[in-house]
Parts: sequence; C-alpha cells; structure tokens
Amino acid sequence: AKEQGRNSYQFYTEGMQDREMLRLELDKDLSQALANDEFVLFFQPQLDLQTSQIHSAEALIRWQHPRRGLLSPAEFIPLAEESGRITDIGRWVVLAACRQLAKWKGTRFEQLRIAVNLSGRELDDEELVDHIREALVSEDVPADRLEVELTEEIFIQNIEHNLNQLSRLRQLGVHLAIDDFGVGYSSLGYLRDFPVDLLKIDRSFITDVTERHDDAVITRAVINLAHNLGIGVVAEGVETEEQLNFLRHHQCNLVQGYLISRPIPVEDLESALDNGILL
Ligand code: C2E
Ligand code: CA
Ligand code: CA
Ligand code: CA
Repeated sequence: AKEQGRNSYQFYTEGMQDREMLRLELDKDLSQALANDEFVLFFQPQLDLQTSQIHSAEALIRWQHPRRGLLSPAEFIPLAEESGRITDIGRWVVLAACRQLAKWKGTRFEQLRIAVNLSGRELDDEELVDHIREALVSEDVPADRLEVELTEEIFIQNIEHNLNQLSRLRQLGVHLAIDDFGVGYSSLGYLRDFPVDLLKIDRSFITDVTERHDDAVITRAVINLAHNLGIGVVAEGVETEEQLNFLRHHQCNLVQGYLISRPIPVEDLESALDNGILL
C-alpha cells in the first residue's frame, strides 16, 4: 500500500510538472501569437424570436496554434490574464470586430451587431475606452453596432473604476450586456445604478429549463426582470426545440446556442445566412 501511495504521488507530481511545462510553453508562444497573426474570431449568431432574424453575433476567440491546432479560450485566456497579455489580445479582438463590421457595410449583413467579451482584467486598462473609440473611428462603424459582454465580477471589485469605465463606454454608444447572468454573486443594485442594455441568462439555467421547475422559475423571473427594467434578454446554451419553445412562450428576446449554430468562421456564418440555413 505504501509502494502504491508513493507511485500515485509520483504520478501526481509528474502530472503537475507536465501541466506546468505546457503552461510555460503556451505562455512563451502567446508572446508571439499576435505578431504571427494566430488569433481568429469565430461567430455565434443570436436569433431574434420576434422577427425570426439573426440579430447579432458573439465573437469568440480561437488560437490557431502552430503545433497544437485550434485552441479554445479556456486553454489560453486565463494564462493571458495572469501575464497581462490579455490587454493586447483584447485590443486585437475589438479591432478585428470593428474590421468585420466595416466589411459588412453596404452588404445584407450591415444590420448585424457584434458582441465581444471583455474580462474584468481588461477593464483595468485606463486606455481601453480610448482604444475602442479609435477602433470605431478608424473603421468608420457606428458605435451601436458593437456590444460589450461583461460578467458580474466587475460589480464586486474595483466598482467605482469599473462603473466609470462602463459609463464612458455607454457614452460612446456601445451596447452593454451582462454575461452569465445569475451566477455572479453580485448584488442587483447595479441594474438600478447603471445603464445595462441586455441580460444574458447563463447556460446553467437553460440546460434543464424544460425539466426542472426551479430553473424554469428562475428563467421566467430573469426575463420578467429584464422586461420590467426595459432591457433585452438573451438565453445562452439553447440546444433543443423544447428549450426554444419555452423561451419563445415566455417572450425571451434572443436565443443563442448549438440549436441555432455553433460558433463558426465568418465565411460559414455568411453562407449560412445567405442560404437561409440558420433557424
Ligand atoms: P462565454 O462568453 O460565456 O461564451 C459562451 C461559451 O459557450 C462559448 O465557449 C460557446 O462556444 C459555448 N456555447 C455556446 N452555445 C452553446 C451550447 O448550446 N451548448 C454548450 N454546451 N456550449 C455553448 P467558448 O467559445 O469556448 O468560450 C469560452 C469562454 O471564453 C467565453 O464564455 C468567454 O468567457 C471567454 N472568451 C471567448 N472569447 C473571448 C475574448 O475574445 N476575450 C475574453 N476576455 N474572453 C473570451
Ligand atoms: Ca460571452
Ligand atoms: Ca456566457
Ligand atoms: Ca462564461
């Protein structure tokens, strides 16, 4: 038993060493990734249940790693937040989104809005808002085509600084969405003090919304909360027709999830829209 214990201990430390090696390797590669143009935005459409049109698309970053293939944000965003590289990555994301909006001008995709994700760490950057303004100006796109998704964590720490950043963003005309709504442990007071445009109901409430009474109650309550505040509401992680029907019945404004589309390259989004393949 002693022997076994030692072996499993060694196994454990080797696992940790492997992970630490991978972390160091990725961190080193991350320092080159922007210069080598290795990031790409995938887009996941949001369906407007009232008009049955695709209303917007969330931009989700991927890293086309030279040896490891396409990496998901979970594999490198936390690392980039630790090292501070997230600031430059975030700037690239905003610029890439604005460039895409510029490309859509004069096409049938002109009305699409793009939502980008910003972490609390990115909000720390004093130049963030100036940078977003410059990106909108240089690409000559209206600010209301751009939406910023933030999680409730920003209402827990650095509140004064974050609220100031958000007002400046809002003054630009950029839309603000609260991502993963309902799992953030923050007070609801910010909804009173702050001009939010959209709540995104977290996927964890949607997964069993048609099976579990409590999830259904919470989802209906969030939809009502948003509507009574005069703001929009999106359900994330919609995977079944039953979930879609529930959300339609309860007047959720927008739905997003694998049922409508996975996150896909922009060319695929455009051809899906052209061919009417999307729901
Ligand atoms: P998120 O903002 O909550 O994005 C939703 C995640 O759920 C995405 O994962 C998406 O692919 C996935 N998803 C969408 N529909 C469904 C569904 O129907 N079922 C299931 N099971 N999953 C679904 P992804 O693309 O891996 O992104 C993970 C997280 O990484 C995002 O969570 C966001 O927090 C972060 N992230 C992505 N892009 C960026 C970025 O440009 N900047 C920053 N700071 N964070 C980003
Ligand atoms: Ca998001
Ligand atoms: Ca989310
Ligand atoms: Ca999330």
